[in-house]
Amino acid sequence: MDQHLYNDEHEAFRELCHTFVARHITPFHADWEQAGIVDRAIWTAAGEAGLLGMDVDEKYGGGGERDFRFNAVLDEELVRAGASGVGFGLHNDVVGPYLMDLTTDEQKQRWLPGFCSGEMITAIAMSEPSAGSDLAGILTTARRDGDSYVLTGSKTFITNGILSDLVLVVAKTDPEKGAHGISLLAIERGMPGFERGRNLEKIGLKAQDTAELFFDEVRVPVENLIGAENHGFYHLMQMLPQERLSIAVVAVAACEAMLARTIEYVKGRQAFGRSVGAFQNTRFSLAELTHETTIARTYLNHCVTEHNAGRFTVADAAMAKWWTTELQNKVADRCVQLHGGYGYMMEYPIAKAWLDSRVQSIYGGTTEIMKEIVGRSLGL
Ligand SMILES: Cc1cc2nc3c(=O)[nH]c(=O)nc-3n(C[C@H](O)[C@H](O)[C@H](O)COP(=O)(O)OP(=O)(O)OC[C@H]3O[C@@H](n4cnc5c(N)ncnc54)[C@H](O)[C@@H]3O)c2cc1C
Repeated sequence: MDQHLYNDEHEAFRELCHTFVARHITPFHADWEQAGIVDRAIWTAAGEAGLLGMDVDEKYGGGGERDFRFNAVLDEELVRAGASGVGFGLHNDVVGPYLMDLTTDEQKQRWLPGFCSGEMITAIAMSEPSAGSDLAGILTTARRDGDSYVLTGSKTFITNGILSDLVLVVAKTDPEKGAHGISLLAIERGMPGFERGRNLEKIGLKAQDTAELFFDEVRVPVENLIGAENHGFYHLMQMLPQERLSIAVVAVAACEAMLARTIEYVKGRQAFGRSVGAFQNTRFSLAELTHETTIARTYLNHCVTEHNAGRFTVADAAMAKWWTTELQNKVADRCVQLHGGYGYMMEYPIAKAWLDSRVQSIYGGTTEIMKEIVGRSLGL
């Protein structure tokens, strides 16, 4: 079905992404899964190919095109290839907007060239061991002392946590004020007192480094404050819709990829003298999932258009995130079932897709929190 979202420029960019992924990522991804981390060189290769900072101003080395469809195309191509360990989405879709929209000219000059070249890998650290959904409950503090903040605390589950050179850390600069006393600080690799903990062992996204971070009285110059002091919560609210849209893009692309694989599989697998795809149950299951995925694609494309037009709200993003990621989990589960025992074997891509899917309804805000946001938007 022609969905009218992408034009020829996006399709040309898709070709570039597809070729890049096939050449530079797919042959190595299984090794990176074993290692629990991707090769850093993939980042600079992506930078050279123009796959980082597509929306960053050209004077900083970016693509100069503020159009989320390019981000979505790259996300989709990574999903289709099963390249779930490559954290370009977090870098481009999630951290990028903070560095473009909340920074001073001096900060842009300092960070954006490395952001686009892949020499500076980024992360964002909100979650803590004792506070994930309840962000106002974080314990990390940044006390102002002269021209610096003194940052103390810890973060966990941080994507790109090991590889990152610049981490946007959410900290309390005025603990008395709760959500109105939170700020964002950019912490750079090598700052004294900044240590990485474990690269956490996960059930999926095996090649992605997800780590603990520790801050022991790290002196952060005030020049590394992102946005306004004590406005961190507001800044997060501004930026979370794009993060959640990015997760929804991955969800829908994953549904499409899992269905395509499963349809191929059931055509070839024989049982009781016919293909598994010839059983009515299989046909009905795949018909239902295909229909729901088509609805998801149509809805997602609308969301991307709304986002590009500046009309995509926090509640819109929450709806898109929970609905598409719950669908992804449903599709993953049903597709494993239709593969029978082979669906449980890692040599079949559907097994990895199932494992990679599970976290989608958890990170970026859980389904329950998304429903809370939507409920609140209804005045409830
Ligand atoms: C692979 C991975 C990568 C991640 N990457 C990052 C990252 O890069 N940066 C970052 O900051 N964080 C990251 N996270 C953390 C992620 O955002 C959190 O795990 C998520 O927000 C949930 O927080 P939590 O784990 O503390 O769960 P909790 O908040 O403890 O929630 C536990 C359960 O309680 C439910 N719950 C909580 N509050 C409510 C409520 N009010 N109403 C109903 N139910 C509720 C939740 O929905 C959930 O089901 C990542 C997590 C994973 C697993």
